[in-house]
This record gives sequence, C-alpha cells and structure tokens, in this order.
Amino acid sequence: MVREEIKAQTKLGRIMKEYSDKGKLGPDEIMIKILAKRLRKPDCKKGCILDGFPRTIKQAEALNRILMIDLVINLDVPDEIIIQRLSNRLTCKRCGAVYNKLTLKPKRDNLCDKCGGELYQREDDKPKIIQERLKVYRKKTEPLIEYYKKKGLLKDVRCDDLMIPPEVIVEKIKLIINRFQKSK
Ligand SMILES: [Zn+2]
Repeated sequence: MVREEIKAQTKLGRIMKEYSDKGKLGPDEIMIKILAKRLRKPDCKKGCILDGFPRTIKQAEALNRILMIDLVINLDVPDEIIIQRLSNRLTCKRCGAVYNKLTLKPKRDNLCDKCGGELYQREDDKPKIIQERLKVYRKKTEPLIEYYKKKGLLKDVRCDDLMIPPEVIVEKIKLIINRFQKSK
C-alpha cells in the first residue's frame, strides 16, 4: 500500500519515500491513515490479511481502534537469511515484480519476465540499509512478538533455509488459518 502511494506520488507517498529510502519506518499516523483508507474498500468487508503491519507497538494500538485481530503470524527468519535474501533481490523498474539472483532468477539477465522492464536493486535492499532495517526491527518491531503472545494471538512460522520455496511457507500459513477457522 505504501509502495502504491509512493508510485502514485501522492503527498502521503512522497513523505513515506523519504523514510523508506533510508531504511526507516514512516510516521505511524501516516501509516494508519493509508491503512484506514484501504480498509474502507468493499473487498475488506469479509476480512483482510495485513502483510508487514503493524511494525511498532504504537501502530498495534492504533490498529486495535480500527480493526479486530484474529491471528498474528510471525515469520521467524534468522538475520543471515534475511541479509542473503534482500541483498540478492531485484525489482522491476516498470511493474514492480520481484526476483532473486539466487532463488528466483529472471529468464534473461536483468530483464523482467513479465514486462521486459529493467531490473534494479532497491535503495533499501543495499547492505548498509539492510543493517539499518534490522536495527530498526530489533528496537521497534520485535517487541510486538511479546505483545501478541500475551494476547494469545501469535503463531510462529520458522523459515531458516534460503532455498525453501515461498509456496511451502504459504502452505504452512494457510494451515494455521484453516485450523483457526475450524476452532471458531
Ligand atoms: Zn516488469
């Protein structure tokens, strides 16, 4: 959603881009504004999955005021895997499709399979910025694990092998969601 705002060069998007280029999180009040706007669309009536949000306790508290949360899934990934994955990630300049030099290579070097656009390394996927993102994660996001554990909502999915295909992780997540729905 943030990337959409950035791409559309809205006022909110321009503010968020400055933060994201430095590996930093945008201000909470702007994140919540973007989210609340999105949740009002009809496709959210039956529920939604938030990917990578909230990232701070303050955001989680703000979220409680606009949404009731059923389940929180923590993708538990060791730092070295995160570094390997991000530092090898390539993004299409034209359509935003994501590739990986190790695990998901494009058919032609540096060109997007889907649209033929040029691939590049995002500013926030460069090593120095990755370190900064991990630091920010420890300080601001990791406390959410305790926060949601105490509420009894947290489920961990461990991903400690770079070569595990994303579909396998998706299946594990679906299993957790199915189990939850049956228990309701
Ligand atoms: Zn593309």
